[in-house]
Amino acid sequence: MVNQNKSIEVDFDAVVVGAGFGGLYAVHKLRNELGLTVRAYDNGSDVGGTWYWNRYPGALSDTESFVYRYSFDKELLQDGKWKHNYLTQPEILSYLSDVADRFDLRRSFQFNSKVTKAYFNDSANVWEVTTDKGETVTAKYLVTGLGLLSATNIPNFKGRETFKGEQYHTARWPKSGVDLKGKRVGVIGTGSTGVQVIIAIAPEVEHLTVFQRTPQYSVPIGLKQQSDAEKSEIKENYGEIWKQVKSSAVAFGFEESKVSAVEVSKEEQERVFEEAWNKGGGFRFMFGTFNDIATNSEANEAACNFIRKKIQEIVKDPETARKLTPTGYYAKRPLCDNGYYNTFNRDNVSLVDVKENPIVEITPKGVRTTDGEYELDVLIYATGFDAVDGNYTKIDIRGRGGVTMRDKWADGPTGYLGMTNTDFPNLFMILGPNGPFTNLPPSIETQVEWISDTVKYMVEEGISTIEPTVDAENDWVETCRTIADMTLFPKADSWIFGANIPGKKNAVYFYMAGLGSYREALKEAGYKGFVFDRAMANVE
Ligand code: FAD
Ligand code: NAP
Repeated sequence: MVNQNKSIEVDFDAVVVGAGFGGLYAVHKLRNELGLTVRAYDNGSDVGGTWYWNRYPGALSDTESFVYRYSFDKELLQDGKWKHNYLTQPEILSYLSDVADRFDLRRSFQFNSKVTKAYFNDSANVWEVTTDKGETVTAKYLVTGLGLLSATNIPNFKGRETFKGEQYHTARWPKSGVDLKGKRVGVIGTGSTGVQVIIAIAPEVEHLTVFQRTPQYSVPIGLKQQSDAEKSEIKENYGEIWKQVKSSAVAFGFEESKVSAVEVSKEEQERVFEEAWNKGGGFRFMFGTFNDIATNSEANEAACNFIRKKIQEIVKDPETARKLTPTGYYAKRPLCDNGYYNTFNRDNVSLVDVKENPIVEITPKGVRTTDGEYELDVLIYATGFDAVDGNYTKIDIRGRGGVTMRDKWADGPTGYLGMTNTDFPNLFMILGPNGPFTNLPPSIETQVEWISDTVKYMVEEGISTIEPTVDAENDWVETCRTIADMTLFPKADSWIFGANIPGKKNAVYFYMAGLGSYREALKEAGYKGFVFDRAMANVE
């Protein structure tokens, strides 16, 4: 299957791409723990990934502070600092920067360097990786932490370039900030990002026009300060906390409910929803209240009705309330917010329903919809991401025999165990397609640990390549499809199935059985679905 032994000298044992949670931990494991030589790249000017790019006002985690972090190092955990039960973007960026310092990770990185090509050379079994700076290096292993919500999506509105004001995508927010005081600002998009930015800038701007295509179900986040005593208690219990997180489904640090909504009375449903509404948290509302909100239409409708009723109660103008009230399933990544619906009670905020009156074009003055022109000084695109495979298909990745990733994934991206791909030997994807859908740092750690264990095994056993079999990959993708179809998520259009990008193939991007099951699946699979090759044991 592989060409004959041909000893070549590689520049590095591994190339790692990405300086977010995934890439940073990969460098630590491969370089600091396994002693491999590593070259890492990121197109940003420093570490942080998501939190380097998403500097928009209001950017906040919706995973609670105590579990939106690495768990691998006890001292790092004990030194953890945070103010509230959720983390602001600057706090997370500073945390990742401290991690980079603590483990001396920056010296492996070339920043401001975008990887443009990665070719697998099958006669030598090495990856040849090229950047936009014109550098090409070779490595035995290619580890990609390109981010699943990283490639920005700006819809191709007619006339975008003609706008005379300032326009920004939220994930390319300038480091120096944007002065919005006294300006007429438009926001397109009301996903998790739109909701956060809308709340944050409404008090500052002269007028805010929100262009909403699909209304969202959002519940309060429950943001509050955490006292030193609360933090100490968490730190004392981290052993148990991570055990629970890693064996749970969504890995958000709370116990998922075992009670079915359809088996309790309406009064009990109401009581449980009200309690969760008051406590806060999107995942907690969807998964901590009842065990069938995401899987049973009747249970889902009960949750929908509860949130719809809240919107009607909060929003004073009946027409605005109508537009803000969703009608479909509550089956996207659940949102939470710090006063979203209430923001529409402000005099300086107006809502334009662009499903009823679609955007026709961006004009020099602002946004023209079918019902008129909205004049703006600043236009903000909170229009999300070409999720999961978006950054992969931007790179010219070629595997065995020159097969391109773009062709291989033409019908939707695939990843055996969410990390590997047939025809792409020794490519390890962190948060690649068909990986877990959870609070992400513990899933990232799970995958990076599997990758580094596998690399260690390959080095010790003198194995030159690893690649999943076609059958193993197909079976895994089928498993992911079966699990996804047991949920209501495929019934709602979102990035989770690639539905947010016009023309993108609807595919199953995630393993939706949860982190605990995923970790079990990894254990069970072992290396069963892989082909190893020992021909190149003499690569230096
Ligand atoms: P990223 O942090 O996205 O890092 C990928 C890096 O790779 C980026 O810096 C990118 O520029 C770089 N890169 C990509 N392609 C190339 C290339 N060709 N060459 C060089 N460099 C490249 N998840 C949660 O679990 N909880 C949350 O509360 C949460 N909040 C979020 C809030 C926002 C605003 C967003 C956008 C996402 C959020 N997420 C959240 C998801 C978040 O992306 C993950 O939690 C996590 O940060 C992903 O880390 P990563 O290292 O896999 O990828
Ligand atoms: P998103 O959920 O994909 O939302 C994009 C928004 O833009 C949607 O309202 C969408 O409308 C709208 N949109 C896209 N194209 C449009 C068009 N042509 N015309 C009009 N509207 C258009 O993206 P996101 O809000 O950036 O969130 C993505 C993910 O990032 C989240 O699910 C979450 O995982 C993560 N995130 C988390 C947080 C957090 O709370 N910690 C914050 C931000 C992001 P439609 O719904 O009609 O498509």
